[in-house]
Parts: sequence; structure tokens; C-alpha cells
Amino acid sequence: MIRYGGNTSSLEVTCGDRTLLFDAGSGIRYLGKKLAATPPREADLFLTHTHFDHVCGLPFFVPFFIPGWKFRVWAGNLYPRHKLQTVIEDMMIAPLFPVPPTIFNADIEFLDFPAGNDIEAADGVVVKTCALNHPNEATGYRIEFDGRSICYITDTEHPPEGNDKALEAFLKDADIVIYDASYTDEEYQQRVGWGHSTWEAGVRLCDAANVKTYVVFHHDPEHDDDFMDGVARDVEKARPGSIVAKEGMVLKP
Ligand SMILES: [Zn+2]
Ligand SMILES: [Zn+2]
Repeated sequence: MIRYGGNTSSLEVTCGDRTLLFDAGSGIRYLGKKLAATPPREADLFLTHTHFDHVCGLPFFVPFFIPGWKFRVWAGNLYPRHKLQTVIEDMMIAPLFPVPPTIFNADIEFLDFPAGNDIEAADGVVVKTCALNHPNEATGYRIEFDGRSICYITDTEHPPEGNDKALEAFLKDADIVIYDASYTDEEYQQRVGWGHSTWEAGVRLCDAANVKTYVVFHHDPEHDDDFMDGVARDVEKARPGSIVAKEGMVLKP
């Protein structure tokens, strides 16, 4: 975890002067420190789902404690069984956590939506969404801005045969696809039904959807740096120009 990183999911997408954040895993603590050094403004935080590895950094996200910041926090497909605000309140509750979300000083709005909806995050910034295949459900995102597109697809499991056709259509011609490649196809045989995919399934999906750049993401914590170097070599052979995500990596579509 020295070279590839060991924090859980947290991404920033910048569209002009608009900041979009994706997931609030342990990595968002570092991102929060960076954002806290910039002027407070309006931003969106999109959650793929609320499993711990995707929300555990939220109570440690510094801009949430700074007056002047205004956040819309989104999650798809929790409602009507769950409400995002209630889920976060239930996570930040003693003795799991000492203080409730009312400790935050920023203006924070929690929003539930059905996956499949389009969200206009700002003028000219369109966030499309789709349902993924994951226990308790998850939502995939496609951000379109200025003629370019980046997709964030985690956590999801591929079907036993072929590609997820709805997902393939959702990713069509995207510039960048960041994809749940937790396992290899070989490891996956012991992980069927766990809600994650493989780097090889990511190659098949990106090839079929005519994706420009494929990014291998959501590394299994059992995979050390040397293992990930091996994945990087294999994926380069299978789909030249593909990228294995590393902590702090910056991509320009
Ligand atoms: Zn999950
Ligand atoms: Zn996850």
C-alpha cells in the first residue's frame, strides 16, 4: 500500500470551477484538507452507496466543519427503505461515534434519488446515473462536461455470461471509465455473489462500449503493491493505455 495507496474510495472531479466529489471513504480526509485550504463554496458529493468503505471518511471531512461551505450529498436507490440522512445519523451515533451530524457547520443537504435519473449539478455539468449490481444496491455515475465524459462505476458485479448490457450502453464512447476491478477472473471463482468485478471483465466492458481509457479501481486490500504491478502489466497487454489507479493520481480527459 506504499505505491498504490491503502485508503478507501474518494474522488474529486473538477468541471470548470465546479467541484464534484465521489464517495467518502477514508481517502476523503486528505481531500478535505486540500479543499479546506480553498475558499468555501458550493459542491456536490455523490455516494455510490453507503457501505462503510464508502462513507467512513465522512465524519472526518474538514469542509463539513467550515461555515460557508454548502454541500449537496446524493445517494441513489436507498429510498424508500432507507433515507440517506438517517443512514448517516445512524452511523454517527454513540458509541460508534461521539458526536452526531449536527456538529457540522457547513450547510449540508442530503438527497435521495432513484438510480437512472439525470442530475444537473451546475450549468453544463450533467451527472447521469445507473443502477449497479451490488448487495444493498449501488449507483454508477457518468459526468458530462464540455464535450468530455468520465464514468465512476464501483461497486458492481458482472453477469455470469457477457457484459451488463445496460451498463455497456451507459458507458458508450466515454473518455474515462473508472471500474470496480477488485479481483482477477481466477480469484473471482471464489467470490461469486460478493458484488465486485474483475479487471478482465472491465476490459471486456470497455472494449464493447468503445471506452477511451479504462482505469482499474477498488483494489482488493489483499493485493499488495507487487501484485498490483502484475495487474498493471497484464491489463497493459490486454488493453494498452489502461491505468491502474493509485492514491493521489490525477487524470485529464
Ligand atoms: Zn459495497
Ligand atoms: Zn466498496
